[in-house]
Order: sequence, then structure tokens, then C-alpha cells
Amino acid sequence: MLPYIDIHTHQLQEDLNAFQLLNCIIGREQFSSEVCSVGIHPWYVNKDVEAQFDLLKSHASAKNVLAIGECGLDKITETNWDVQIEIFERQIQLANELQKPLIIHSVRTYQDIFAVLKTQKVVVPVIFHGFNKNIELAYSILNRGYYISFGTSILQGNQDILLQSIDLDKIFFETDNKSTNVVDIYSYFCTVRKISLSDLQEQIVKNFENVFRYNILS
Ligand SMILES: [Zn+2]
Repeated sequence: MLPYIDIHTHQLQEDLNAFQLLNCIIGREQFSSEVCSVGIHPWYVNKDVEAQFDLLKSHASAKNVLAIGECGLDKITETNWDVQIEIFERQIQLANELQKPLIIHSVRTYQDIFAVLKTQKVVVPVIFHGFNKNIELAYSILNRGYYISFGTSILQGNQDILLQSIDLDKIFFETDNKSTNVVDIYSYFCTVRKISLSDLQEQIVKNFENVFRYNILS
């Protein structure tokens, strides 16, 4: 039986049939020996940025680290904007060096993030996590070749039109910091999209293996 994949969670759930990618915020959350992503979140940039970045680097090349992030830009945090840009740029460089995908946190900063990704010449897959914005923005992400990960916000029904039309090979699902079961997010998507759960599971496993270059079933 194929697993349900949760590409971004801050706490592992006891679910026998889910493959979960734990997120470790460097300087705040414990590094894990499970498959995970590691990054410096714009909310939690330490005063000693260099030490924090060194810590990130020391973990980032580990085999169980499948992605860099969440990282990105945030207009409502108090972290200085220039510091946010610099630490984001360095994480893009790190991801490029290590050939690991980026998981992006964006709050009111999509255009800024597009610009930084471009100037930093990102060469790895880019996934915008927890996407809950409008369809135009979704397509400006997809048209750049990036991916979208949907969380519990789709359950509210505001994104149904997007869910009906989005390319299935461009999407992922996640629980983030919610206790919702990722299966409920898959199920909701299937209802709106009128496809079977098993077809969606198969597609998301394929997406995961393509983007993360990781064989889930082995
Ligand atoms: Zn998160």
C-alpha cells in the first residue's frame, strides 16, 4: 500500500501509513535522525547569524536531510529585512551546492522571493509550502516551474477552483504545525478534483521521488 506523503510537518504523527518529512528550524527545533528538512526560518534568525548558519551547514549535508527550508521572507515578522534577504540568499546557495530542494516560507513576499530566487540562480526544485492564496498567484508560481504544497487551508473551500485545474505533477500536501491527519487533506482534494485516493497517492509518490530524488518504497 502506498503511503500518504506529508512534506512539511513540525511534529511527527503516529500514523502507520504516512511518510512524513519533519521540518527542523535550526536554532530552535532539535535536529532529527528521521528524514527531514533543515533551514533558518525568518522568524527565528539568531543574533549570531554566523554561528546559526554554521550549524545549518553542519546538518544540511546529512543523508536524512532531503531539503533546505523552510526558509524565505516574511513581511510581518520583526526580523530586519536585509538580514532576512541575506540569510535567504545564503540558503539558496547552500541548496544549489548540495542539490537539495528548497521549501519556501512566504508571508506577503511572493514577488520578493521570485526576485531573490532569480538573482541567486536557483537550480533546485522550489516548493512554496502552505499555499493559501489566489489562483493568479498560484499560476505565477507554477509558470516559473516551482511547486505548491497545500495544507489544511484547502479544507475551507476557498481554493476549489485552483484544485480543479492545477497540474497534478506540481503539487504536494502537508500538515505543517496542525494536528490534522494528512489523509483528510488528500481526501478533500480528491473530492474536489474527482479522482481516486489511490491515483492521487500514486501521483504524489511520483512527484516526491522526482523532486526529492528519494525512493520512498525502498
Ligand atoms: Zn512550517
